[in-house]
Amino acid sequence: MNHRSDSLAPDGKWTLLVHGGAGMMRRGELDPVAEAEARAALARALDAGGDILRSGGGALDAVEAAVRVLEDDPVFNAGRGAVFTAQGIIELDAAIMDGRNRSAGAVAGVKGTRNPVSLARRVMTNSPHVMMAREGADSFALEQGAELVTADWFHTEERHAQLLRLRASGKDFDADVKFGTVGAVARDSDGHVAAATSTGGLTGKRWGRIGDSPVIGAGTIADDRACAVSATGSGEFYIRVNAAHEISARMRFLGESPQVAADSVQAETLALGGSGGVIVVGADGTPVWSFNTPGMYRGRLTDGADAMVAIFGDEG
Ligand code: ASP
Repeated sequence: MNHRSDSLAPDGKWTLLVHGGAGMMRRGELDPVAEAEARAALARALDAGGDILRSGGGALDAVEAAVRVLEDDPVFNAGRGAVFTAQGIIELDAAIMDGRNRSAGAVAGVKGTRNPVSLARRVMTNSPHVMMAREGADSFALEQGAELVTADWFHTEERHAQLLRLRASGKDFDADVKFGTVGAVARDSDGHVAAATSTGGLTGKRWGRIGDSPVIGAGTIADDRACAVSATGSGEFYIRVNAAHEISARMRFLGESPQVAADSVQAETLALGGSGGVIVVGADGTPVWSFNTPGMYRGRLTDGADAMVAIFGDEG
């Protein structure tokens, strides 16, 4: 079953959506403390981005601020609290994109930078490149004066236990999981959109595996001509479908609404065997989500309305 947003008419003002991953979260099955922590963290991320948008700030600053909050929160699989690779280390991917001129920055396999989303932004603004990987990306962080941390900053017992369970299961990849990638999309009061996504990837990933999150057009896109998108789910499928770009292209070339475009691409991904979800904000400010997992950590804040945070498929 595919879950989609309730309808919310665009009002031409600012809009912010955040997510903390899609997955097997079902009502009554989540630990109540963990559920409350996740809801509170999503609300804090909306506050951080919303403060910027409310005071006339740009979508790019808002998505970076929202994602930084979620990266620093150990509840989600990004920054602190990221999942472990098969080798028992943490390698982080992130991307950010500015819909005004489609400038973009991305990092992959980063090990020592506290906020990969901000490093991605520096790649965008302070280098001639779009994507940097592994030691090179961490060296660039050092050169740029970004905050560096040791591996224990990212380490949480819960994620480590997930790796041990995966090893004990004999499976070599965690495909049926609660994805915990984080992301944000926004439209500011000047009508510009931006997107950011950050993740630890999948538990037990090997061989320098990179997911969809830092791949522009797969897990992240922003284009003022259409929309901004951040995805979460089985990254290999989102890369193959080029999901974020496909949503944007359907809106541009077929004139589809954000909801129809998102649902169509989600259906295409599911048909290939992938699961997960997307948040999308149209260039007109229409905020939507679409996911085919039982739950998705998500939040919405629009100009003049109360913040809304949800996890399960049957919530608004
Ligand atoms: N999409 C991410 C990846 O494949 C995982 C997630 O969404 O949690 O790396």
